[in-house]
Amino acid sequence: MLLGHMQDRPLLISDIISFAERHHGDAQIISRRVEGDLHQTTYQDCASRARQVANAVEAEGLAVSDRVGTIAWNGYRHLELYFGVAGAGRVLHTINPRLHADQVAWIINHAIDQIICFDLSFLELIGQIRGQCPAVKAWIALCGPESLSDTDRASGLISYEEWIGAQSSAYHWPAFDEHGAASLCYTSGTTGSPKAVLYSHRSTVLHAYAISLPDAMGFSARDSILPLVPMFHVNAWGIPYAASLTGAKLVFPGPRLDGQSVYELIAAEGVTFIAGVPTVLQSLVSHADNNKLELADLRRVIVGGAACPPALLRNLRERRQLDAIHAWGMTEMSPLGTLSMLKRKHEKLSYDEQWALREKQGRAVFGVDMKIVDDEGVEMPWDGITPGHLLVRGHWVITQYFDPTGDRKDAGGADAQGWFATGDVATIDADGFMQITDRSKDVIKSGGEWISSIEIENLAMSHPDVALAACIGVPHPKWDERPVLVVVLKPGATADRDDLLAFYEGKIAKWQIPEDVIMVDSIPIGATGKILKARLRDMMKDYHLEQ
Ligand code: AMP
Repeated sequence: MLLGHMQDRPLLISDIISFAERHHGDAQIISRRVEGDLHQTTYQDCASRARQVANAVEAEGLAVSDRVGTIAWNGYRHLELYFGVAGAGRVLHTINPRLHADQVAWIINHAIDQIICFDLSFLELIGQIRGQCPAVKAWIALCGPESLSDTDRASGLISYEEWIGAQSSAYHWPAFDEHGAASLCYTSGTTGSPKAVLYSHRSTVLHAYAISLPDAMGFSARDSILPLVPMFHVNAWGIPYAASLTGAKLVFPGPRLDGQSVYELIAAEGVTFIAGVPTVLQSLVSHADNNKLELADLRRVIVGGAACPPALLRNLRERRQLDAIHAWGMTEMSPLGTLSMLKRKHEKLSYDEQWALREKQGRAVFGVDMKIVDDEGVEMPWDGITPGHLLVRGHWVITQYFDPTGDRKDAGGADAQGWFATGDVATIDADGFMQITDRSKDVIKSGGEWISSIEIENLAMSHPDVALAACIGVPHPKWDERPVLVVVLKPGATADRDDLLAFYEGKIAKWQIPEDVIMVDSIPIGATGKILKARLRDMMKDYHLEQ
């Protein structure tokens, strides 16, 4: 074959920060710090300090591909580590601080992290795990020297500002194979031990391009972007990279994700774009509703990571006129897979028909291919009705889990054709709009039919008295399983079992209506804000349906 005569330059993460420095050097990066104040910097400064990070990592003697762990909120120092560590050919390992201390230590050891950089809010956690992580040779607190006590110093902690301050800001970003590893994230591990997903420079840069497209997150140099999704979970959905390559202003919320703090940042920093999981966005919306506040310059909101309750989507779109978009993805997909963006032909549909599409998880972005199959692997039709196990493949989809210690040979990954089983169950319609109906493990099989727990939960969440709802399958002698709804009511709400069951009448088929409703004080939520169905089923193990 005749080869094209175009330059063969590797797609590297260091190119993103170099571009931002050269072309958008004065664009702002605002961060709420753990200390409580608002810090202001620019891409120029970020690039300069990222080079100091690269020199500091080399000075510690880390070899290419060695891991640097972070236990940190969204902020400018974390961003410098994103670029400095990966740019220097080492691997940035972001760790979820909401996990149990033993699990954090397990992850650090499994990844063989050699440096850990942490926010001061996690000082206690660091104290608990330091003795358990023998491979870590430097513990760096993300602060200035004045914030560390004498005891902290005596115990060997070093402040980040001293650590990078000792280094030159002159550094030549090395060129290497774009398939080289750039960052590492462990899955939330709701079942069994967490598994390691290792992103490459190429997958990260291609994903950043794709999410910037108008029908994805739609970033521009005129935007002010606030990622509410944490930088410790799937690189904050790739937003820090995509914002940097478009030259957008970046606004980081630090540790404060409550409605009021987020609202204040949006108003003060002219934020045009936010992205987050439904629970965090719900607390912003409740704060704005309760205090009759407008959301200033906000233009687009991406909701994902868990099924978005339609009531939240409606509040954002109808009440606040925002471009609110439901999106789906997962750690193994960097994470973006689909977004519920209408096509041109859908503009002719009725309002309700358009809503039905917006509530779905949406259509794939270029770079992600998907299909649904039955239990035997036979492909199911794209008719919008037939559910199947959802498989994906693409430029930023995992091939196999990373196994640094060699003890997880069975960890799994994609099949020989590159198809990765997401563990989600979905329908896909003729226009390619995908709708998640369940996790494979959560599907309720009643009389041979699959009942969608998500549909039942969404309806419950649209009831004015319901704060949180989860639906699980409970064994039944005749129907195998029947759906049971577990509900947390809003404070002062009075709805009872019969009210909630009556609420389903006419909205779904009779056989899909839950068999029972159980009121509880709380429903277990995991480290990434998702309902832990396995634990809920465990809590309910002594519950039996009356025959
Ligand atoms: P994680 O890898 O921890 O981000 O979790 C990924 C999983 O979250 C997916 O496989 C889905 O089960 C779920 N998920 C993510 N986004 C959505 C969404 N918009 N609707 C329903 N489930 C979602």
